[in-house]
Amino acid sequence: MPVNKITNDLLTMKNLPDKTVERLSQYRRSLNNQLVKGKTHIFSHEIANLLHITPVQVRRDIMLIGYSGTLRKGYDIKEMVDLIGKIIDTEEGQKIAVIGMGNLGKAFIHYLQEKRSKLNIVAAFDINPEKINKTYAGVKCYHFDQLVEIVRSENISIGIITTPPEVVSQIADKLNEAGIKGILNFTPKPLSAREGIYLEEYDMITSLEKVAYFVKS
Ligand code: ATP
Repeated sequence: MPVNKITNDLLTMKNLPDKTVERLSQYRRSLNNQLVKGKTHIFSHEIANLLHITPVQVRRDIMLIGYSGTLRKGYDIKEMVDLIGKIIDTEEGQKIAVIGMGNLGKAFIHYLQEKRSKLNIVAAFDINPEKINKTYAGVKCYHFDQLVEIVRSENISIGIITTPPEVVSQIADKLNEAGIKGILNFTPKPLSAREGIYLEEYDMITSLEKVAYFVKS
């Protein structure tokens, strides 16, 4: 189905399963790589191979977003990339704040600023006077006390927490007060859910210990 025939309802779909959204992000990156290589169409089994998942899974996800390819040529890669963009991005992009400019926060800013995407880190926050008013990969670091003011004035919708775990709950409360819509918690301490905020947690230490457990002799 051509992209312009997809209804607005589908494009603003909010209720896709978490895992589908994760895979859409992965599909888009793989498809973009294919476009760069000059490929224009792709079959579900080829996408599945690239991501090491099953073709059934790929077809199910693509059906969920209301797209279909042709039997002969497969999916039009450019159309699919555009459609996924319409589903997971916003037109004007989304603004992000990073709280905690230690090693992890700095690495995150440097990494994300290099990827051209609709996700822009526009402010960093810390309490260490040596870091305040410094600029990291083009992003200014403010004092944490200015968080509510800046999140509101800049219309920041996502907060990434890279502070020590002891303060994570306090940070999330402030982000909540500021009206943030999504939090990515990079500390090893889980946060409780806050109404109206989408919470994603990634604990590197748990992931690493899991790998270590399975490889220990
Ligand atoms: P560094 O040694 O440069 O501080 P680090 O990676 O060892 O780096 P951590 O102790 O993990 O630092 O802390 C991460 C960052 O979080 C630090 O820059 C610290 O100043 C900051 N931080 C700590 N508490 C808060 C807080 N309440 N609000 C905002 N930032 C905080």
